[in-house]
Amino acid sequence: MAPDAPRVRFAPSPTGYFHVGSARTALFNWLVARQSGGTYVLRIEDTDAERNREEWVDGILSALHWLGMDADEGPYRQSLRAERYHEAIDALWAAGRLYACGCTHDEVTARNKAAGILTPGYDGHCRGLGLPRGEGRALRFSTPDEGTTVVPDVIRGDVEFPCAAMDDFVAVKGNGAPLFVLANVVDDIDMAITHVIRGEDLLPTTPRCILMWDALAALGWTTDGSVGDPGAPTPPLPVFAHLPMLVNEARKKLSKRKDPVAVESYRDQGYLPEAFVNYLGLLGWSPPNDEDEVFTRDQMVEWFRLADVNHSPAFFDVAKLTHMNGEYIRALPTDAFVEACRPWLTGSAAPWPEASFDEAAFGAMAPVVQERVAVLAEVPAMVDFLFLDTPEFDPDAWAKAMAGDDGASTILSAAIDSYMALGDDWTAAALHAATLAVAESVDRKLGKAQAPIRVAVTGRRVGPPLFEALEALGPDRTLARLRSAAELVAGGRTPTP
Ligand code: GLU
Ligand code: ZN
Repeated sequence: MAPDAPRVRFAPSPTGYFHVGSARTALFNWLVARQSGGTYVLRIEDTDAERNREEWVDGILSALHWLGMDADEGPYRQSLRAERYHEAIDALWAAGRLYACGCTHDEVTARNKAAGILTPGYDGHCRGLGLPRGEGRALRFSTPDEGTTVVPDVIRGDVEFPCAAMDDFVAVKGNGAPLFVLANVVDDIDMAITHVIRGEDLLPTTPRCILMWDALAALGWTTDGSVGDPGAPTPPLPVFAHLPMLVNEARKKLSKRKDPVAVESYRDQGYLPEAFVNYLGLLGWSPPNDEDEVFTRDQMVEWFRLADVNHSPAFFDVAKLTHMNGEYIRALPTDAFVEACRPWLTGSAAPWPEASFDEAAFGAMAPVVQERVAVLAEVPAMVDFLFLDTPEFDPDAWAKAMAGDDGASTILSAAIDSYMALGDDWTAAALHAATLAVAESVDRKLGKAQAPIRVAVTGRRVGPPLFEALEALGPDRTLARLRSAAELVAGGRTPTP
């Protein structure tokens, strides 16, 4: 590996399901590493014991694995690096970069109010007091009172933050726990990170990170784990890239509660990882030269440029993702499609008893099913009629197809007769021809005539093409279902659920 090869990191906090925005951040980091022979580091930022749960860590790891973005290095765990943060805290304290503050939130607010200051923020009250550490006091970082902190951002250019507007932020909690900026920056230096690529939501925090970085660098903090070595080379500031926020249809920031943001749920619904990754790639970036939006991972690695990332909010369009997933499904070789469907067909997730599943019957239907689903979770409902003793009747479908005087009864009897006459010629083509004849005999369009037959046999109004379905089901079961439906219709009854 080249000595100057980029080192990027994906640094999620395990506070919930794996968010699509996090997946996009992981991808853009991964792309930079892959295209430059760099290293993609995974760091779990789990310093907040109250909000972090081990299952969320597992969720991150398994989602990354599913997306084909396992880390090159790590996962590092911030919860295991406390010693290093305390070294940094001691060094910053000794250098006078931190001071102790025992003010409560209410005290600060009251003082600000009395002074007529409307912007919330710390007023610097304890800065010169020389309070000792401990006794539950937080440690605040002294920020400069004047000047500007510039965040050089590859995507946004130089973003300026006037220091006067920056308060002395808490770097260490009253209980001694390091907060985000401190742990994050110590790690980025220790791990020799060259590119910080993360969500736009962190941009306002970045000037603090830069001040912290400079403070640590000035103390001789180095990547090799030493501190206080005045001859050590200053770790250069990383390249920053703040990725555009993801928004919903209403152009509002994606909401954890209202929008479908959990990557896990997309996996469970049967989105293909390649389709998902392709779609993530379009959230803030697009391929050059009017290339198609459907591209391979290798093409994305080749074409992606951090500097080409857009800074306006990116619409996370589930309908577009779903459409794209359908395209990926249709492009699969049939065998691969069958394999991809397996988790939905076997085991407890399948809506039929395990033993009733018939691999060959599914295989026969697979090509037509593949043409008709956008996500794999739709597959069972397309084929359950093959593996259930009686179809799962959709009451709505039954009511529409069988009730009224649409001639369902006549169609069903005519179909029984003409299908019986097929004998050994039980093929989709022969069934098609027979059904056409039925439709003509009752003076109906083919589609109209198919409806009661489809509902009688599959329980639903939509599904795979009817004649392939009947061929797969075979004459005995088809005729039995048509007869039992005909009886129900004649008696004005509906199937018992
Ligand atoms: N842990 C932070 C988060 O999940 C991200 C930190 C970073 O990428 O710098 O919001
Ligand atoms: Zn104070």
